[in-house]
Amino acid sequence: MAGTSKKEDKTGKKLLMKDENGWNRLTAADKRQLTSFCEEYKEFLSAAKTERACHDHGLALAQAQSYTDLAKHVKTGKKLGQGAKVYLSGAGKTLILARLGKRPITEGLRIIGGHTDAPRLDLKPRPVYEEGGMALLDTHYYGGIKKYQWVAMPLAIHGVIVKKNGKTVNVSIGEALDEPVFTITDLLPHLGKEQAGKKMSEAITGEGLNVLLGSIPVPGKEGKESSDAIKRHVLKLLNEKYQIDEADFTSAELEVVPAGPARDLGIDQSMILAYGQDDRASAYAALRALLEQREAPEYTGVCILCDKEEIGSVGSAGMESYIFENTIAELVNLCCPDYNDLLLRRCLRNSCMLSADVNALHDPNYPDVSSPNSNMAKLNHGVVLTKYGGARGKSHSNDASAEYMAKLRQIFDAAGVIWQTGELGKVDQGGGGTIAYMLARYEMDVVDCGPGLLSMHAPYEVAGKLDIYMAYKAYSAFYQSGPGKKPR
Ligand code: MN
Ligand code: MN
Repeated sequence: MAGTSKKEDKTGKKLLMKDENGWNRLTAADKRQLTSFCEEYKEFLSAAKTERACHDHGLALAQAQSYTDLAKHVKTGKKLGQGAKVYLSGAGKTLILARLGKRPITEGLRIIGGHTDAPRLDLKPRPVYEEGGMALLDTHYYGGIKKYQWVAMPLAIHGVIVKKNGKTVNVSIGEALDEPVFTITDLLPHLGKEQAGKKMSEAITGEGLNVLLGSIPVPGKEGKESSDAIKRHVLKLLNEKYQIDEADFTSAELEVVPAGPARDLGIDQSMILAYGQDDRASAYAALRALLEQREAPEYTGVCILCDKEEIGSVGSAGMESYIFENTIAELVNLCCPDYNDLLLRRCLRNSCMLSADVNALHDPNYPDVSSPNSNMAKLNHGVVLTKYGGARGKSHSNDASAEYMAKLRQIFDAAGVIWQTGELGKVDQGGGGTIAYMLARYEMDVVDCGPGLLSMHAPYEVAGKLDIYMAYKAYSAFYQSGPGKKPR
């Protein structure tokens, strides 16, 4: 961050906004907490490889902190008081948590929203086929992936199969060391001359992402000289393990993801290498920050862990749906003596939000795409405040107000948060968006705020532990104070 200053603030602390590695500025207490927080974060990443698993994991953590189902309160109609803890489960994928504050809900919410879906390969409705003496799984990729990154590596399969009778079968294969993994084969270099001459985006195609599933024909007479004996064998094995048949894949959500746990990265163990850190890094930090609020906060705190961000926030549990507005309407109804639409609108208009999503870090291997003059976020420089994203002239970016940025600077500095500004690459290089604009339409203040990543959207993404921890610290500070807007 530009603007290095040696001046001191009112508390006598050195100003925190400097263009230097944050590890030089960590307190001893921060160092201890950073390590334990990141250990728990890695456990979360390793255990929750899908948006459903993130939902279930988050729900378990919330229930352990006495959060209760909003649907139950809606049923009884009993009013909620200060400090009440509730959650809303959307389709078993999106999770919204609220901790009621001391002030009336119509004075606004302090919202932090991240997403828990991540780029991956989804199985098609009729995935299993046999070719060349092998059984394979046909996939359709989800989100923005570089297809060549997904071949020749160990893969796991996670998700659910819902049987015709409504019974849900949970599937998870490829994580435990005694379980098999899967892979997508790549061409050997000896025969890859033509492939090597192709553009990276074309060398591996979407339809080429077929997962190797098995190779033994069904035993006995049945398997002899039959063209689908290997397919029938894998289906038989799946039936023995999960009591499912081929037709059950049509009502399934099975995701192919990198196998194995999140790992420490670097000789100094300063970083984490793991699948799904966009955006489980911010989502987990936001969840923890809300759950750890000991007393009722000043303003009602809301944490959103949403699905479908990577494909446009569509669908009934995506943020383009009314899931958030409907949830807050129920909350307003349970907090106010007489509900009316205007109360909901006031509540939303008076709210402010951190859109908790990751940004790109400066990568010395690819310096040409970075925004120059310290405008690109750097590893270990803290949580990133991204005033605007967008592409081609800030197009479709939320572009947070200077006033809101000023309030957040004040809150973060006062709480000892190491933070920096960031921009998604240099001008006209590309761009991207988050759920920020979907909440900004309610007239609330919104800004993007989350850790930076290297290798974003790759099977294994890189994050700095300090940056993850500072996101958590920033979110905690935001829930505790939350910048007030003059209520209407
Ligand atoms: Mn994201
Ligand atoms: Mn993303």
